[in-house]
Amino acid sequence: MELITLIDKIADRIYENKDYLSELDREIGDSDHGVNLSRGFQKIKDESEILKSLNYSDCFNKMAMILISNVGGASGAIYGTGLMKVAQTLKGVDILDRNNIVKAAEAMVEGIKMRGKAQCGEKTMLDTIVPVVEVLKNNKEDSLDALLKKIQITAKDGMESTENMLATKGRASYLGARSIGHIDPGAMSSYLIIDTICKNLK
Ligand code: ADP
Ligand code: MG
Ligand code: MG
Repeated sequence: MELITLIDKIADRIYENKDYLSELDREIGDSDHGVNLSRGFQKIKDESEILKSLNYSDCFNKMAMILISNVGGASGAIYGTGLMKVAQTLKGVDILDRNNIVKAAEAMVEGIKMRGKAQCGEKTMLDTIVPVVEVLKNNKEDSLDALLKKIQITAKDGMESTENMLATKGRASYLGARSIGHIDPGAMSSYLIIDTICKNLK
């Protein structure tokens, strides 16, 4: 599948879950995560003709800029910085093989950590993404099918693990102990994105 088709599928999945993501954000934030992210991904969809004409690095860089300037909120800057790092890593790359995908995934985590200064266990999107990147790194010999299955399970477990966590970063941290008992909206949006990628690569 072409990258741009995959991106369209991700935009659709976020759009379908817009209200649900904002609902999760209502519990521990300011009710805008679904609206924010969906606006950003719809903008990406609007630019798909231009994105299609770019190499991988420029394509990720443009998506980063679109998210940073259209999502607003913490998640726009954080997802956007992650994608900027991915773009840097993919400079000169014209085939997305497994090694390049691992490098890109590691760069995504690096960008997210650089921008948000969070670690795993703080109830953010990192709790979904970091374990997935570990699986990618440690199962290089798996068949594609086996690998995608592991990733889907790991992403879901990571997302669900945020429910019992105390938020110590972002808006949810203002709630202190009251943040416990709710799934983190960013962990959910990351799960939806990763799950969509896995479903469409199968
Ligand atoms: P805002 O909180 O500004 O309204 P959003 O609602 O769009 O932004 O996004 C909230 C999500 O952003 C959280 O659920 C969390 O996953 C993620 N997030 C917030 N702060 C950080 C951080 N410092 N590092 C990583 N992710 C973060
Ligand atoms: Mg919010
Ligand atoms: Mg907000």
